[in-house]
Amino acid sequence: MTGRFIKVQCKNCKSTQIVFEKASTIVKCLKCNEILARPTGGKAKIYGRIVGIAIE
Ligand SMILES: [Zn+2]
Repeated sequence: MTGRFIKVQCKNCKSTQIVFEKASTIVKCLKCNEILARPTGGKAKIYGRIVGIAIE
């Protein structure tokens, strides 16, 4: 039912950020503004590198 929060590493600046896996809006890196996730209607398309799960 509910989605998970995943840790995504930005490909550009290598900082990590928590992203909701079913993000409904475009998620950008807080540091460099690189797009990290884009909504698809279900699970968001992740553009960075997934490095872990924040909450199960
Ligand atoms: Zn970045």
